[in-house]
Amino acid sequence: MRLVLLGAPGSGKGTQAARLKEHLQVPHISTGDLLRAEVAAGSKLGLEAKEIMAAGNLVSDEILLGMLEDRFSRPDTAGGFILDGYPRNQAQADALDHLLKRIGQPMDFAVQLEVPTELLVERIAGRAQAEGRADDNPESVRKRLTIYDTQTAPVIEFYRQHGQLTVVNGVGSLDEVFNRILEALAPVKEVG
Ligand code: AMP
Repeated sequence: MRLVLLGAPGSGKGTQAARLKEHLQVPHISTGDLLRAEVAAGSKLGLEAKEIMAAGNLVSDEILLGMLEDRFSRPDTAGGFILDGYPRNQAQADALDHLLKRIGQPMDFAVQLEVPTELLVERIAGRAQAEGRADDNPESVRKRLTIYDTQTAPVIEFYRQHGQLTVVNGVGSLDEVFNRILEALAPVKEVG
């Protein structure tokens, strides 16, 4: 199954994707994780991305597409994947659509995790304490939420128009939300 998880920062995409990965036995591709690994490795790309990420801005579409092309060329994605953190704007949605069609692996399904803004802010604050992410400071969080509303939320319409979107209530315990996602996926494939 080829699946994309959509949702604001703090909506639980990463946590749910990690669970889904075990359940579906397909790799979890998080563009945020790929970028953080580049930053940690001190690569040229990582050095370029570091400040941009810390400020809560989007890294260039070109860098992201190159990174994804690389990732999709690895054999473990042949049986499907869970994509998290991409696409974040319309250009990325179009680029992804083309890339996946070109490699004969079109997206099957998009799940949007819906969480009210107050709760997002609360969750990110909790995560900041627990994980100490460089971009979980208040200013960067505001920027990321604004970018989500203005650039990423419109991408949801793209998947709706393609008949691929299911909206899942992202409020509740990890298990509750996970079970809702499985219910949403059940008609698509035997994942239950
Ligand atoms: P995330 O872990 O998905 O919240 O991503 C953390 C940061 O990595 C974002 O705030 C961006 O700076 C960068 N990033 C991750 N995915 C993308 C993307 N698809 N396009 C541009 N920047 C991204």
